[in-house]
Amino acid sequence: MFDALTARLTPVLNRLRGRGVLTEENVSEALREVRRALLEADVNVGVARAFIDRVRETALGAEITRGVGAGQQMIGAVHAELVRLLGGDEEVRDVVDPGRGGSRIMVLGLQGSGKTTFCGKLARRLSRPGRTISLLGLDPYRPAAGEQLSRLGGKLDLAVSVLAAGEDPVTAGVQRCRELEGAGAELVLIDTAGRQTVDDRLMDELGALHAALEPQQTLLVLDAMTGQDAVRTAAAFTARVECTGAVLTKLDGDARGGAALSLRETAGLPIVYAGTGEALEDLDLFHPGRMADRILGMGDVVTLVEKATQEAGGEEALAEEGRRFLGGEFTLEDFREQIRRLRSMGPLSDIVGMLPGQLAGKMPGAGADESSIVALEAIIDSMTPEERRRPSIINASRRKRIARGSGRSVQEVNGLLKQYDMMQKMARSLKGRPGGRRGRRPFPPLT
Ligand code: GDP
Ligand code: MG
Repeated sequence: MFDALTARLTPVLNRLRGRGVLTEENVSEALREVRRALLEADVNVGVARAFIDRVRETALGAEITRGVGAGQQMIGAVHAELVRLLGGDEEVRDVVDPGRGGSRIMVLGLQGSGKTTFCGKLARRLSRPGRTISLLGLDPYRPAAGEQLSRLGGKLDLAVSVLAAGEDPVTAGVQRCRELEGAGAELVLIDTAGRQTVDDRLMDELGALHAALEPQQTLLVLDAMTGQDAVRTAAAFTARVECTGAVLTKLDGDARGGAALSLRETAGLPIVYAGTGEALEDLDLFHPGRMADRILGMGDVVTLVEKATQEAGGEEALAEEGRRFLGGEFTLEDFREQIRRLRSMGPLSDIVGMLPGQLAGKMPGAGADESSIVALEAIIDSMTPEERRRPSIINASRRKRIARGSGRSVQEVNGLLKQYDMMQKMARSLKGRPGGRRGRRPFPPLT
């Protein structure tokens, strides 16, 4: 959803990249463009102004780090500020600690924002063996609302309780919640009624419900596609009901990102989750650092390379490999080496998460399971050294042979080669980005 913003920012920052020093003048010129790009992305005017002021201060105030160009310095400043805007670089975590149990999570928002869908997604995400999660639907006004929740519960094999028409959401709601808990639910996800627009009756009802249920978490669901309206909605809800976090849905759509960029600053609400599609698995934790990377078009490949560099024993040893990687000259042998190193670096889910979104989605390891990485290695192992060095020679018959040799399908071999291609393109486009060089980065790490 940040594509348009990325497309606007890239040339502006690129132009600065070649410059030796940041001056009042070239910084101002670039920042005018950055400001325009933010406004076009539907970022709140006040937020955009404050953003620009802070970047200017950092960019002009920072000491020039040796070996880092002015442009990089500037990109670093924009990046740091974007991270701040999106919620800072503190760790994002699920709303429930495993094992804590006994929680009520209330979900609210306007009609159509994605509340019911989110309840299903969250239930799926938080489900663990031995943890009983139940769904509670408190919309007695629209029969279809209850049916939708019941369907989701059926799919996930969870107990669901919904109100009948005419029941009072507050008294009946509290009673149903207790019943579910009495029946063993450790976690009750409470879906509430929405309205098309913010209205007083709804707010009163939600306020009363909140007071009666005393949920541990109150999550406000906001449709990212509605841009600044989402921000206004957030202000209206938080003024009446104490919320603990926001969920931004429909980030897969063509939302321009204004909501995500303005929410923290205007409503003071941390964005905890991002909805990225209609399916139950389309839910992610919202990582400000990764979002900022994506906006600036850099993925986290930089972090990935750096992590791998550290593993391999320092900069000197890897300077050459790093240079080749960022020049897009790395071979499948390097690719395999990277994968091996990654495997020794810690939980795979962390690592896959660092790949740029488009790449991570296509990684066989996207589901973050060890076996697909093993498969990836097996395929590369089945290639001849020549093929690893010059993947372009791998034609159809070689693909078949490699597939046979590794016990994998030709499609999987094709998939790997495609990934390698993408990684190479990505690496090339990284050249010259902050941290995309050997020089020390003047700003905090990307994640
Ligand atoms: P509610 O009225 O707030 O309960 O909203 P629903 O959960 O019924 O969702 C409204 C519509 O938005 C449905 O068609 C959902 O499939 C869709 N929806 C919900 N979340 C997402 C999302 O993250 N991405 C996309 N593309 N659609 C979503
Ligand atoms: Mg609903």
